[in-house]
Amino acid sequence: MFLKDFRCICFGFLLVILHFQVSAQGITGIDMKVYHDISSHDLLQYAEELSSEKYAGRLSGSPGYLSAANLVSGLLHDWGLKPGVGDSSYYQWFLNPWTDVLAPGKVKVILRGEETAISQELIFPDEFYPGSNSAKGSVSGEVVYAGFGISAPELGYDDYENLDVNGKIVLIESGLPYTRNDSILADWEKYSYHRYKFTRASELGAAGLLYAGLIANPNTRHIDNFVYAHISEDIAGKITGSAGRNFNGLKQEIISKMKPASFVTNSTAGIEAVTQHHQGTHACNVVGIVEGTDSVLKYEAIIIGAHLDGVGSPGMLFPGALDNASGVANLLGAARALALSDVKPARTVIFIFFGGEECGLLGSLEYVGNPLWPKAKTLFMINLDMVGNGTGFHIAGGKSHPGIFKHFEDANKTYLHRELISSEVRTFFGRPRTDGAVFENAGFPTLGLWTTGTVKPVFYHHPLDNIDGLTPEIMEDAAKLLYVGILGVANDKSLRVLPITEF
Ligand SMILES: [Zn+2]
Repeated sequence: MFLKDFRCICFGFLLVILHFQVSAQGITGIDMKVYHDISSHDLLQYAEELSSEKYAGRLSGSPGYLSAANLVSGLLHDWGLKPGVGDSSYYQWFLNPWTDVLAPGKVKVILRGEETAISQELIFPDEFYPGSNSAKGSVSGEVVYAGFGISAPELGYDDYENLDVNGKIVLIESGLPYTRNDSILADWEKYSYHRYKFTRASELGAAGLLYAGLIANPNTRHIDNFVYAHISEDIAGKITGSAGRNFNGLKQEIISKMKPASFVTNSTAGIEAVTQHHQGTHACNVVGIVEGTDSVLKYEAIIIGAHLDGVGSPGMLFPGALDNASGVANLLGAARALALSDVKPARTVIFIFFGGEECGLLGSLEYVGNPLWPKAKTLFMINLDMVGNGTGFHIAGGKSHPGIFKHFEDANKTYLHRELISSEVRTFFGRPRTDGAVFENAGFPTLGLWTTGTVKPVFYHHPLDNIDGLTPEIMEDAAKLLYVGILGVANDKSLRVLPITEF
C-alpha cells in the first residue's frame, strides 16, 4: 500500500515536471499515453493490410475499394470517432465508374526500317501496362506520332493539323507543350487532362492509342470501342526511331519551339485489351469526427485528409503502399490518438479518407462541392499523400499560415527532432494534382505534409510500390506530429476563422 502510494506521488511529481517542461516550450498539454501508443508497428500493419491482395489495389468504385472503406470506417467506429455524414454514416458517396482490367492483354509492334521489319511483342509490366479504362477488344494499324495530342486553335497549336489518324494508332505524350507556371498555363489547363486527349483522338477516328510513359493511371476516360495501352519511353523511342526520329528530342523540340512535330511512323502496332467497364457505380469518402469540447470553438473545424484509393490491379496487383496506404496509416494513427486522448480538442477535428483521387480527384471535388462542415468555419485543411519514405518533413504552405505551422514546429522541436521545413502556398496555374490542391483552389487554407530525405527507391504507380518501400519510423513520427500539432491548433484560442455568426 505504502509502496503504491509512494509510486503514485513520484509519478504525480514526474507529471508536474513533464507538464512544466512541455508548457515551457509552448505545448499546452497532450496525453503522453496515447502519444506513446502511436507505434510504427501498428501503422505498418495498417499499410500492409491495405496493400494486400484482399483490396486489389483499392481502385475507387471497385469492390476492393469499398472493402478498404469498410475497414477504415470500422476502425473509426471502434475508436469512438463519430460518423461525419449526417448522424449515422461515415460515407460521403459520389458517382465513380470504373473499369476492371481482367488480364494484361497484349501489345505488339512491328518496327520497320529502310529494309528491315522487326516484330516485337511487348513484355508486361516492363514494357507496357494495359489501359486502366480501355475498352475491351483488339485493334491494329499504322502508328502516327501526334506529340501531345492537343488541338488548341485559340492558342495557335494543333498536333493533328494536316494529319490523318482515321483508323490508325496514335502515339502521344502526356503533359503540355507549355511548361512555365504563369497565367498562360491556365489557358492550357483543359488540354492537359488525359480524358481530353483520349476524347480528341477518338473524335478524329483513331482506332487506338499508345500513351508514352509507364504509369498506371485510372484518371483517363472509358470510350466505347477505344482501346489503348501505356508503353515505356524506350519502346516509344524505338517506334519513332524507326522513322529516324529521336523520341526525347521530339518532345524538347515541340516545347522549345511551341510547334507540333507530328508525323506518320513506319511502324504498326496491335493492342489487345481484356477489360470490363462498370458504369453508374459509386465510391465514397470515409469521414470520421472528433467533436470539439469548447462551447464556442467546437463549431470550428480542422480537416485532415489522405486518399484511400489506389490504381487497382491493371493486369496485376499495384499495392499502392507509399501512394497512399502510408498516408492513410498515418491518419489512422492520429485519429486513434485524438479519439482516445484524455486531453480533448477544443475545436472539432474531421478525418477524411478520400476516394476517387486517382480517378481525377473525385472525392475531394465532391467534398468542396458539398462540404460537410461550413467552409467559413473550417480553420484549415492538411493533406497527406505519400508520407512513408524519408527522414524529415516538409509542410507545404506552412510559411503562409505561421500561426498554424508554429504548432507543428513546436511539436517537432519538443518531441520528434526531425528536419522540418516549410514553404509558402504556391499558386499553380495548371491542373490540380492532389486533394490538397482541390481544397486550395476552393478557398480553404490548405497545408500539405510531405517527407524529405527519401531513403528507399520510389516506385510511382508501379507494381513494386509495396511495403518494402516504406520507412515505418517516419510514419510513426508523422502520426505523432499530427496528434500533437493538431491538438495544439485545436486548442489555440488566438487563432481565428471568420467571425462566428448564427450556426
Ligand atoms: Zn497519391
